[in-house]
Amino acid sequence: MAPTTSSDARLNPFEIAQRQLDEAAALLKLDPAVHELLRWPIRELHVTLPVKMDDGSTKIFHGFRVQYNDARGPTKGGIRYHPQETIDTVRALAAWMTWKCAVVDIPLGGGKGGIICNPKELSPGELERLSRAYIRQIGRIIGLEMDVPAPDVYTTPQIMAWMMDEFSFLRGYNEFGVITGKPLALGGSAGRGDATARGGIYCLREAGKALGINLKNATTAIQGYGNAGSFAHKLGVELLGLNVVAVSDSKGGIHNPAGLDYEQVMKHKDKTGSVVGFPGAKAISNEELLELDVAVLVPSALESVITAANAGRIKARFSVELANGPTTPEADAILYKNGVYVIPDFLCNAGGVTVSYFEMVPNAYDYYWEESMVHERLDKKMTAAFHAVHKTAQEHKVHNRLAAYLVAVSRVAEAVRLRGWA
Ligand code: GLU
Repeated sequence: MAPTTSSDARLNPFEIAQRQLDEAAALLKLDPAVHELLRWPIRELHVTLPVKMDDGSTKIFHGFRVQYNDARGPTKGGIRYHPQETIDTVRALAAWMTWKCAVVDIPLGGGKGGIICNPKELSPGELERLSRAYIRQIGRIIGLEMDVPAPDVYTTPQIMAWMMDEFSFLRGYNEFGVITGKPLALGGSAGRGDATARGGIYCLREAGKALGINLKNATTAIQGYGNAGSFAHKLGVELLGLNVVAVSDSKGGIHNPAGLDYEQVMKHKDKTGSVVGFPGAKAISNEELLELDVAVLVPSALESVITAANAGRIKARFSVELANGPTTPEADAILYKNGVYVIPDFLCNAGGVTVSYFEMVPNAYDYYWEESMVHERLDKKMTAAFHAVHKTAQEHKVHNRLAAYLVAVSRVAEAVRLRGWA
C-alpha cells in the first residue's frame, strides 16, 4: 500500500468505525447511553488453536469471534483468514455488520470472526484442521438463534461445510443453519455465490437512475478480484453493460482501455493464480488503478485504501464499495467535496448477508428457494435500502456514508430502546 503521512492512516479500523458512529449519533441527537452502548461490542471471545501440521509439528494459531450487537436479532457476519488480522479489525467489521443488517432491514445483528493465518501457506488438510479447531472453540457461542458465521476474505464454501460439520458433531445432530455460504449440497442457497457483487450492481443501477447518468459502456476499474470483485466484473458487464478496463489483485493490476473480457481474465487467473500478466493488458499497480480516469471505481479488496493521501486524485464519478471499510473518514470528506458519488460499503456490499439471510430461512424450515426468487427478493431489499440512504443524504445534505449510518443507527437504537436496554 502507498506510504502516507496523513493522520487518518494511523487510525485503526475500529477507531474509524467509532468515529463514523459518533458523527451519526451527534446528528441523530442519540441518547448518550444508547450511543455509548453502540460504540462497543456486546461480547467477544479470543481463542487459541493448536493445529497438527502435515510435517508432524503442532502450530498455535489465534482467532476471535466478536458479537457486536444483537438487539435486532442473532448476530451475523463472516470469518476472515488473514495474516494481518487483529481484534480491532474484527471489531470494526462486526460493527459494520450491525449497520449492514439494519440498513437492508433484515432481522439480524452484527458479528465477525477472524483467524490470524495465511491460508495460502496451509495445505487443504491443515486448513480443515484449523477450521474445525476454531469451531470447537467458538461453538459454545454460535448457533442459528445466537450467532451465524459466513465466508469473508479467504474463506470459502468448503470451509463453511467443514465448520457446519464440526458444529453438527458437537451438537449431535445436523444444524445446517449454524453457518451460511455453504455449498448447495449442504443447505446453501442458490444465488449466494455472486450475491455481494449483485447487490452492489443493483445499487449502482439505482444510483445511475437517481443521478440521470447512463451507465452503458461506463469505464470501470475494479480493485480486488476475489469473490466480490470478480463477480462485479461479470455482473457489471451482464446487467449494466459496463466497460471494465482495469482489474487488480494482491499481486498487482492490469489495464486495457479497450476493455477486459471476464471469462478470459478468469481463465488466466485460474491458471496462474493472478490477473497479473494477462495478455494484451498493461501492468499497473493497485494504487494507480484507484486513480484511473474512469467513470466507476469498485474497491473490493481491503480496508483503508482510499485515504486523505490519495482521495483528491480519485477521478471516478461513482465509488462502488464492495470492500468493507475501503475509505477513511478524511477521504470521505474529500470525495464528497469533489462530487464523487460513494455507494458506502455497508449498503453496497449488503447483498452477501441478505442472501445469507435467504439461506438461514430455508435452513430453518427445510424448503429451498429458486434462484429467480432469491434475485427478485435481493433486488427489492437493495433497491429499498439504496433509496432510503439516497433520500436521507439529500434531505440532510450529508454524504451517503453518513446517511447510511443515520438510517441504520436509528433502527438499531429503536430496538435497543424498545428492549429497555438504555
Ligand atoms: N462477509 C460478508 C460481509 O462482510 C457476508 C456476511 C454474511 O453473510 O453473514 O458482508
